[in-house]
Amino acid sequence: MEKHYKLKNILSDVISTIKKQDFLVYFRKISIVEISQDKVVFGTVSSFMKDNLEAKFNNILLQAAKREFSDDVSSVEFIVDSNIDNPSNSDAVDCQSFLKENSKTTKKAEKESRTGINVVERKTATPSRYSLKNFIVWGDNQLAYSACEAVTKNPGKSYNPLYIYGDVGLGKTHLLQATGNEILAKFKSKKVVYTTADKFITEYVTAVKKRQIDKMLEKFRNIDVLVIDDVQFLSKKEQTQNELYNIFNILYDANKQIIISGDRAPKELTELEPRLRSRFEWGITVDIGKPDFETRLAIIQEKAREKEFMIPHDVAEFIAANVTENVRELEWVLNQMIAEYELTGNTPTLSRIAQKLQKLSFTTDLLWESKAAEKRTSSTIKSYEDILDAVSSHFGIEKEGILWENRKKEFMIPRQVGMYLLKTKMNYTYERIGNIFNGRNHASVLYSCNKMDKMLKKDKTLLYEVNAIKDGVGI
Ligand code: ADP
Ligand code: MG
Repeated sequence: MEKHYKLKNILSDVISTIKKQDFLVYFRKISIVEISQDKVVFGTVSSFMKDNLEAKFNNILLQAAKREFSDDVSSVEFIVDSNIDNPSNSDAVDCQSFLKENSKTTKKAEKESRTGINVVERKTATPSRYSLKNFIVWGDNQLAYSACEAVTKNPGKSYNPLYIYGDVGLGKTHLLQATGNEILAKFKSKKVVYTTADKFITEYVTAVKKRQIDKMLEKFRNIDVLVIDDVQFLSKKEQTQNELYNIFNILYDANKQIIISGDRAPKELTELEPRLRSRFEWGITVDIGKPDFETRLAIIQEKAREKEFMIPHDVAEFIAANVTENVRELEWVLNQMIAEYELTGNTPTLSRIAQKLQKLSFTTDLLWESKAAEKRTSSTIKSYEDILDAVSSHFGIEKEGILWENRKKEFMIPRQVGMYLLKTKMNYTYERIGNIFNGRNHASVLYSCNKMDKMLKKDKTLLYEVNAIKDGVGI
């Protein structure tokens, strides 16, 4: 039982640093098989899970084990624990129920801290997965990033307040929390409070109910850095705005750093009191804009690397061309792919991800005419000859028969498959494909590709054949 509690502590530590989804996918069920002076051996349900944990979470588990046991622990190991599913084994932890239990206790703790109006604990102020180091900088967030960096060097002195705004999913929360984290790391004695407008409202309402407004003021008076996210949600909450106004003035006068985010410029927050809005503009206001195609591509590749996931170049380009709104969506699509890979073993291919995106209505009618086509470098893929050779040898017919006008049925399907692969795997234009296929016109190639796309959705055998050709040629 002792091991069970130790393991739970370790897992609590782990889930404060990784995403819940990752935790569920990769940990499933885990046990501690052995603890010695310098080593902890974890048990897993299968060798697949063992390999994954080893590859992805070795270090995180090692650090957590060090914190739980001692710094003498210098390695962690993983083995398949054949006893893990035995009902009498009370040491193993089922991660799904653990997560449920854990979120209940965190909620309880949050509730207590809200009503008790404590200063936010250093450790839990901001989750550590956000850092300035893993923030990707592009043209339209460069200024926001630099301002945050400057603030971490000299809180309260350089840009105060710092107001960051932009559309959803563009990294405001990431930047704010990263900045808070960095300040905490650099200045051990500084008190940093990260809150959202929503939480601030709740805190204020509770304080009013309990007649503890003075206490709330006292709490905020004593902090060094106030980070407040999504201030647009203070709309129409006049009393809360008034409270924030007072806190703002106290902190500002004492040269304490204030960092704010919103979904639009202070001027446009028309439902906020003018005096509060104008204070938001006292320091520096910077906006974050959307990433362009090249940046989106870099983001996907970087995020995949972070997760140690291999993503084919054409798939990354395709996602970058079609998922255009924000980083959150890009991450989400990537996570979907990873989860699918982990659960089914399907590696991401262009057609699979295209289907997925289409289903999720990310894509437009320009599905195959994506920007990926323009950006493609020919070195990333085989020549079209390779593809056509593979098609002809798979169907056991002459290449000429596929390319030339020949209405025999035995040539039709292979021809459509050939065109479809050139479109989807090479991103050729319909014109170019038409030229290869004996000068056919754009419309007839378009028709063939669409037809193949539809057939593949219905005809499993054909899908299997096309996949076999793709595998054979390595695309
Ligand atoms: P916002 O608060 O603006 O709605 P978030 O900060 O929540 O956006 O960002 C959404 C997701 O995208 C987060 O997981 C975040 O880590 C990621 N993200 C956003 N911008 C970047 C960036 N520049 N570099 C790395 N990750 C980013
Ligand atoms: Mg946010």
